[in-house]
Amino acid sequence: MADGRHRAAQPAPKEYDATTLTHEFEQLMRTKRFNRLQQQSRSRTQSPSPSPMSSSSVPPPPSRAPPPPPAFGAPASLPSPKPSTTSSALRGLPVMPAPPQDAASLKFSNFLKGLSVTPTKYENPGLLDEALCVIPLDRLYSEAEEESQIMQAQAASVSGKAEWGYQDCVIRALLRWFKGSFFQFVNNPPCSKCHMPTIAQGMTPPSPDETARGASRVELYRCSDTSCAADERFPRYSDVWQLLQSRRGRVGEWANCFSMFCRAVGARVRWVWNSEDYVWTEVYSEHQRRWVHVDACEGAWDQPRLYTEGWQRKISYCVAFSIDGATDVTRRYVRSFSRHGSPRTRAPEEVVLWTIHEIRRKRRENMSKTDQRRLIKEDEREEKELRCYMASALASEINKMLPRALTGRPEDQKHPGARQEASAEVLATRGHGHSGPDRAPEGR
Ligand SMILES: [Zn+2]
Repeated sequence: MADGRHRAAQPAPKEYDATTLTHEFEQLMRTKRFNRLQQQSRSRTQSPSPSPMSSSSVPPPPSRAPPPPPAFGAPASLPSPKPSTTSSALRGLPVMPAPPQDAASLKFSNFLKGLSVTPTKYENPGLLDEALCVIPLDRLYSEAEEESQIMQAQAASVSGKAEWGYQDCVIRALLRWFKGSFFQFVNNPPCSKCHMPTIAQGMTPPSPDETARGASRVELYRCSDTSCAADERFPRYSDVWQLLQSRRGRVGEWANCFSMFCRAVGARVRWVWNSEDYVWTEVYSEHQRRWVHVDACEGAWDQPRLYTEGWQRKISYCVAFSIDGATDVTRRYVRSFSRHGSPRTRAPEEVVLWTIHEIRRKRRENMSKTDQRRLIKEDEREEKELRCYMASALASEINKMLPRALTGRPEDQKHPGARQEASAEVLATRGHGHSGPDRAPEGR
């Protein structure tokens, strides 16, 4: 856990005083509720004030309101205050979906709707068949079988439940193979004439052939060997068919192709867009009944804190798109908005929520009532999970304020996947090779 290092730096813990902690926590929640009500009564006439969370990385003392869990995507229980702002959302005020009213909001809303089409392209039997032709299924299945048996044996030895199911192990095997043998990461493509390194020359317009194959942008490189000096083109394909052929690219191509492969082996998949120019995959684990973070580029499985606590990135939006709709999953990746949140200024939260509801409505309109109900239940369960992460982060910040409560962090153990997440230190010091925080889907 990220807080492992904080704990290690502290003197040896004495005793875990649950009563004091509970009392402090209740006190904080009372203060928070009071402040929220006060805020609501003022908000109709007041202009937004800066969020207390973004101003400092130090948690406020217990006498003030703690950073409340943001209510992104939270079901509204109270009428929304009219001047909708990011800071109000960060304060945890309830959000009512509302359509965009200004040009910037409309632009962001349409942008998200545009992104939401990406995973629908995977639902093509011809494409999935072609993908299955290149995936070494036998090898992956036997690896998965072996791994899941080991996990079952380990679980049996402590009379528990295996951590991951067979289907999860199939995706884990797919991940290893995809990164290890199938897809290639490209910074500067080598010269195709003499294989020498190349030097970036900027962008160039796509040729008709490249356009036909789905490249909207082409990067131009020149061979570093002056006697050759050949031009090398690097078309950035977003067409997943083309990626099956080219088998190379940066984060965007990796996430797109890998997500489609997960679909091909029968998983429910999400393509996750991040506003800080990064993308990854989520796969639904039937075994754990939750969405699991998978980053093909990093070979990372279930490490949602990688980007914030590992790479120290600040993040404003993470939105997951699937064939069933869209979900704002920011809270899975940004556990502490005070430390790793970036202001959400692209549109009012009401518009973000409205857009997500619109995408869900559109994707689900032709489904049976039974399927629609199942998905609503799943949305609710996920909302609960995401709120738990916020509550957990809040409790952990309180924990850190209280010297006597420095012992365990039992609240983390209750959360699905918490144990699997590597500590920030491990993530930060892990060898990334050619990868790392400056990778971007759009290709820096
Ligand atoms: Zn050359």
